[in-house]
Order: sequence, then structure tokens, then C-alpha cells
Amino acid sequence: PIRTRFAPSPTGMFHVGGARSALFNWALARQQPEGRLVLRVEDTDAARNRPEWTEGIIRALAWLGISEADPHFEGPYFQSAYAAKHRETSERLYKDGRAYFCDCTREQVQERRGNPHLGYDGFCRDRGLEPAPGRALRFRVPEGGPTVVDDQIRGRVEFEHSAIEDFVIARGDGSPLFVLANVVDDIEMRITHVIRGEEHLSNTPKQQLLWEALGQTPPVWAHLPVIVNEKRQKLSKRRDKVALESYQDEGYLPEAMVNYLMLLGWAPGGDREIMPWAEMEPLFRVSDVNSSSAFFDEKKLRAFNGEYIRALPVEEFAERCRPWLRPETAPWPAENFDPEVFAAVAPLAQSRIAVLSEIVPNVDFLFLDRPVEDPQSWSKAMKPGVGREMLAAALARFDDPALPWEAAALKTALEEVGAAQGLKLGKAQAPVRVAVTGRTVGLPLFESLELLGRDRVLDRLRDALA
Ligand code: GLU
Repeated sequence: PIRTRFAPSPTGMFHVGGARSALFNWALARQQPEGRLVLRVEDTDAARNRPEWTEGIIRALAWLGISEADPHFEGPYFQSAYAAKHRETSERLYKDGRAYFCDCTREQVQERRGNPHLGYDGFCRDRGLEPAPGRALRFRVPEGGPTVVDDQIRGRVEFEHSAIEDFVIARGDGSPLFVLANVVDDIEMRITHVIRGEEHLSNTPKQQLLWEALGQTPPVWAHLPVIVNEKRQKLSKRRDKVALESYQDEGYLPEAMVNYLMLLGWAPGGDREIMPWAEMEPLFRVSDVNSSSAFFDEKKLRAFNGEYIRALPVEEFAERCRPWLRPETAPWPAENFDPEVFAAVAPLAQSRIAVLSEIVPNVDFLFLDRPVEDPQSWSKAMKPGVGREMLAAALARFDDPALPWEAAALKTALEEVGAAQGLKLGKAQAPVRVAVTGRTVGLPLFESLELLGRDRVLDRLRDALA
């Protein structure tokens, strides 16, 4: 059966690139009843690991639907727990003559080679050094070659052995390097498919040699194309918004995120792009992944998210907005929040927001004691000679108790008031909107006025004129 793995190093926020790798591995694992995705946390870099990064990874994966709640999920395993196996394996490679000890310093190697870009020169290859503290263990790259990596995405990639140095597999203190620990664990966990980022391709010939030296058939390899920003630069955490959590915080829906991430280098075929996971999963083939870089288009992701938001039943939409409406984070006094008013405004908001966090600026006028103050919106909407005049006229008209307080009637009323001032509705409503909501854009105005109620609307118009 297929056994894929996701093997993150918990040294930072969980990256969208990692999320894509995890999803591709997940799709493959789920295509077979016995298929598994193994989560292995590569936590051997004690100086850079932090438990909260590990927790963040597990939480983020669960948010995407990858968790132990699903029988195709196995783990998490922690690489640090396999230290004995790593040591045992390096000893075995030494005993079998596949690795040798080396006491060269970096400076010595550089001095001999005269070029910092040239790798190790094999100086200790035949010196027969015994194991001793401080001596690194190097893999003896076989003469001849090449090693051919048969990559599912990039095809056959040849690596001449003359270009692969005798690489270190264990440090002077016996601790294993990534190339070794990663292979030992993959073997131990019976991994059949290694699907990971392209940045690891240069490790692959070394790792394939290790699999072979350990008497194992190498896994199926697939190296995923890099993800780039709009300037075609590789996404980086300093420059770009790469943390999955920041998308979650902004109110991206996991199903939209999953859909979008799956399209970074792959497409389900036909013209369809918006496609739920359940339909994509059986269609995914790692060999169909494109080898050219994938553009992470945040605008497109936003558009996807808007579509997913609009497809929700309105009650569910309201439910999903909840985290942004909590008293601890919402900007209004907690006691002002009225779930019934929110339920009434939800359909209006659902059709126009792209990320859930945008719910707050769209509905805050309903729950704040006074609308937000934004001098810029104010000066934009309150044109001299028009703004105050319009507000005064609207106040006079809305104050009429005979005017039914409902959207259609309010609209007609404001149209008339505007016409009397020589204004079309769009111009006429701008001052009213800013006086009542504090903003120049927002939900449909007349529904908003209806929901806010006559008294509060009149109060706000009076305040604005005061
Ligand atoms: N811990 C490595 C990383 O996060 C794993 C690479 C791999 O998937 O083999 O880059």
C-alpha cells in the first residue's frame, strides 16, 4: 500500500508551501483503502525547534482536514525518538565499508582545494581512521555512476558521481545529518512515496545512494515546483505572507484554501478550478504535477474564498463569522451585540465579503454606540455645499412618523430628498451613509437604515450635524 509522509521541521510558522506538500501527499494516501500519510516531525535541530511550532503544524494540518480523526493519518512521530536507530545505521554503514571517518577541518579542505565551492576532496577515504570523538562520518560515494533519480514530475535526472562529494552523514559527536536521519526514518516507516519541495532535489541522489547502500529499494520520488510571488520570486517568509495561520486569521475558509493550494502546480483538468476536495482527491496524480514554478496569486485566492463564502447556507455563514464577533476581539461593547440583528444582516454581508474578518467593518455600525470615526471618509462624503444640506434634508424627511421605516420606502424618500437638491441617488446617499455607518462603502444602505432603526438613524444624523 501507498505510504506517503509529511516531514516538517518545526522551526517556524507553517508555510503555504508545506501545506501544499501535505495535501498532495494526503490525496495520494487517501486514494487507497490502506494508504497512509505519516506525519513525522523532524525535530532534531534542538536550537531552532520550538514546541509551539510543532503544535502550530498539527493545528494547521487539522484545519486543512489532515488529522488523526481520519484513518489514513498516522503519527505524529518525532524524529528525535529514533536517535538510536540513526546511530546504529551509521555504525552499520561504517562497518560495511560504505562510510569512513574523517578528521579534516573545513579550513583544511578549502586550503587543499583552493575554491570554497568545491566539495570535499576525499582526503580521508583511504586513511582507515578509527571512530573517535570529533571525527565526522562520510559516505563513500561509489566510483562510476551516475545516479539516476527517476522523478515523477521532472523525469529522469542524472547526477554524475564525480559531482557528488563524500558527504557527511554523522557529525563528530555522532549525531546524524538530515540526509541520513530522513532516509533511516523513511525506511523504518516503510515510506513508498517521497513528495516534497524542489529545494530537496539536490539531496535526492545522496539519499538514493543511502537507500541502496542499506539494501533497500528507493521510494518513488516527486519534487514539487517552487511557489513564487507576482515578481516571480520564490515565496519567502520575510517578504511574503506565507504563514497558513495568517490566512486562517483573516478568515479564509479551509475548503477554499485547500482548493487553491491544490492548484499550485496541478489542475484537475477541464476548465474547472473551483472544485471541492472530495472531487479532487481521486483525480490527483503526482505525475500530472507541472514542473514549472507555481504562482501564488493572493487575489485569485481571495476570489475563490468569496465564492466559497457565497456558497454557504446563510446560517452556516453566520456561524463561521462567530470567531470575529467574539466579545474579546470585536470592537463594540459586548452587550450591544444582538444575534437577531446579526442574523438579519448576515445575508447582506455574505454576498459582498471575500474573507470572514471583513464581517467586522461591515456590521460594526449596528453594534457600536457611535459609528467609527474616519476623517478621510468624512471629507470624501461630505462635499462642501452638499453634505450638510443633504443630511439636514434627510433628517427632516426621516423624522416624519408617517414614513414607514423599511428599506424600499426609505429609498424612495431619499431619492426625493436628493432630487430636490439636484442630486442623483448615489450622490445623495453618500453623506447619509457616512453619518450613519462612518464609512463611504458598506452594505446596501437602505437595508442598513432599516436594521439600525429610526431612533438611532435620526440620532446619528443629528450628531453629524451638531
Ligand atoms: N524536514 C525536511 C523539511 O522540512 C523534510 C524534507 C523531506 O520531506 O524529506 O524540509
